[in-house]
Amino acid sequence: MNSVILQPAGNGDAKQHYIDTITNPVKLSRMARYLEDEQVERLKELYPDQLIPTWGVTPGKTNGNIKKWNRIQTGDITLFSGNGGIFSSAVSTYKLHNKELALELWGTDANGQTWEYVYFLDEVKQHSIMYIEFNKAVGYKENFIIQGFSILDQEKSIRVSEEFDLQSDTHYPEIPFEEYKKVIKEFDPDRPLDAKGKAMVRTEQSFLRKSLFGGKSVENCGICGNTYPVNLLVAAHIKKRAKCSNDEKLDFENIVMPMCKLGCDDLYEKGYITVQNGRILLNTKKIVTPVLTNYIETLVNKECTYWNESSKPYFEWHSKFHI
Ligand SMILES: [Zn+2]
Repeated sequence: MNSVILQPAGNGDAKQHYIDTITNPVKLSRMARYLEDEQVERLKELYPDQLIPTWGVTPGKTNGNIKKWNRIQTGDITLFSGNGGIFSSAVSTYKLHNKELALELWGTDANGQTWEYVYFLDEVKQHSIMYIEFNKAVGYKENFIIQGFSILDQEKSIRVSEEFDLQSDTHYPEIPFEEYKKVIKEFDPDRPLDAKGKAMVRTEQSFLRKSLFGGKSVENCGICGNTYPVNLLVAAHIKKRAKCSNDEKLDFENIVMPMCKLGCDDLYEKGYITVQNGRILLNTKKIVTPVLTNYIETLVNKECTYWNESSKPYFEWHSKFHI
């Protein structure tokens, strides 16, 4: 589950850094010479325009910030605060420890430390959330003021992300298979979705999306073959999720494929199209309209690259279910 990070940036160095490297994202070309090739490649994948909102923290007194920075995961949300409230949020994508890079971007503070625990951000959004609203959502006292870099615990993070709708639909945390397995076994679809249930859904989605998209920001739809930003793609179950056994759900390499929200996901889910022997077919049992027929004709006979001997039984289940 993603955490919420609090970062005051209303005055002093932090205010200046916000202008220098968030309002004005840093060009990858300026940072590249301080980075390893692999890190440059990763950033190119994440930021096709190579303009990167960048933040960093100092080790802090008695190295207190390092421990917190170690906990930052992809998809965590940083809230920047100052002047009576939270003025923006951003989603973390990637992090690295690099003193030279920090010196280049920000120099040093009054204690001679630099902001070498670097993390990169995306989806920077403006907000005007007053402290009083924020405190109410977290469960803090009315007059609480955010002081210093800190990370909210799981329960508070969930409350804040829900209240202000902060979750990213592009950047998800890395979920170990064991944790995915635990969620699959423990999730009860008949229970109403409380905060814990929602966190479980997010964990399952994070795992499946990571396995399909890696860390990429664009990917191809498995039906139409078109390339889309990943927030327009779903990790769709080839066999209806609700009908899958736990073992089938755990067969994550074969049970899901990317489908676009521009039509393919619904057309497949509702059975207007099926995949047989690796080719997309129109389901003639369904009522269609001329405009829909025209659309589906552009898909018919296309090859579905996710069809193989291992995924075949799931596609066959889908065809039988709908025809
Ligand atoms: Zn598509």
